[in-house]
Amino acid sequence: MGNYTITVLPGDGIGPEVTEQAILVLNAIARRYQHTFTYHRRLVGVAAIEAEGVAISDESLEICQQSDAILFGAVGGISNYDGSDKVKPEEALFKLRKGLQFFANLRPVKPLKNLLSASTLKPEVLQGTDLLVVRELTGGLYYGHLEPPVPGKPSEIRQTEHGREAIDTLIYTETEIERILRVAFDSARDRKQKVTSVDKANVLSSSVLWRQVANRVASEYPDVTFENLLVDACAMHLLRKPTSFDVIVTENLFGDILTDEASMLAGSMGMLPSASLGTHKTAHGRLGLYEPIHGSAPDIAGQGKANPIAAILSAAMLLQYSLGLKDEAAAIEDAVTKTIEAGYRTEDLREAGARIINTQQMGQKIAATL
Ligand code: ATP
Ligand code: MG
Repeated sequence: MGNYTITVLPGDGIGPEVTEQAILVLNAIARRYQHTFTYHRRLVGVAAIEAEGVAISDESLEICQQSDAILFGAVGGISNYDGSDKVKPEEALFKLRKGLQFFANLRPVKPLKNLLSASTLKPEVLQGTDLLVVRELTGGLYYGHLEPPVPGKPSEIRQTEHGREAIDTLIYTETEIERILRVAFDSARDRKQKVTSVDKANVLSSSVLWRQVANRVASEYPDVTFENLLVDACAMHLLRKPTSFDVIVTENLFGDILTDEASMLAGSMGMLPSASLGTHKTAHGRLGLYEPIHGSAPDIAGQGKANPIAAILSAAMLLQYSLGLKDEAAAIEDAVTKTIEAGYRTEDLREAGARIINTQQMGQKIAATL
């Protein structure tokens, strides 16, 4: 029996629809285990830009920092990414990640037995897949794009005498590499004791340093099997033999791309949760931000087609990592598995014989199973 405060940032597009279902499931947990969850709802993304003029206000950031955990939906409107947007909704994520130092993004990929046929891969290739991608989240190429720009880290389109050119900068410090590698090795100790560090050391200096640090950290974990792998080869092996992986650790951009690829092993983007963790401690554990790996999906927003399972499993990760409630997290995973076993599917998982239900019904089924 505990009291916990959770900041809820539903965001844009399908964000509010799936987050609402995650809260429904958290409330079912609260009833079953006699906990009290107090929610602080705040605007983020396009919703915040329209109401408050910024992608996330300082006041909201403060509230996030003071809560036990953050449940996040998705941000982003319809954009053609041609540089014409004045305020970028994605700035909210950058501010949260940078401001609260969420440098480690954990993305587990474990296809459910009854969903093996929902993937485009053969069931016999997928069978037994259970991997965790540990993506570095506060370094690499992504931060130069912020306003105001990060000093010494250019990201711009500029005029030269030969026409325009564009520049992004990929910087990693040894400290940043080491701390994410340690998250990966510590995670592997609780799993199948294997770490694959993914880089592009044949062409990138940042990757050469990455590999040097990875080799050094690996020598401190003799109980964990370790390998280095080039990112292009990793993209191939993920589809060829996903069962060969346990923990994959990689830099920001590579992790972004590889996890969208890996999501298809689980059948849909709508199935994969994530946790972003840093060093900030709370009364119950580590402060974390929990969100589906998918975005705001404006193409299906408001139609009841969004799969809320990624958001619901993100709530399970929240219970486990930030609140230390392992049994409760396992109960959610179990309820999701049972609901899928019973044949219920959202539109993204449509297959012959499935009982197609909408976003809200899926949330209700899972909550009722609890
Ligand atoms: P971001 O830049 O935020 O990562 P994205 O451009 O990668 O966004 P998403 O919003 O993640 O795009 O979605 C890509 C497509 O996948 C959507 O257009 C939608 O059709 C599908 N999709 C994403 N999430 C879900 C979901 N929860 N349920 C069903 N379909 C989804
Ligand atoms: Mg994406």
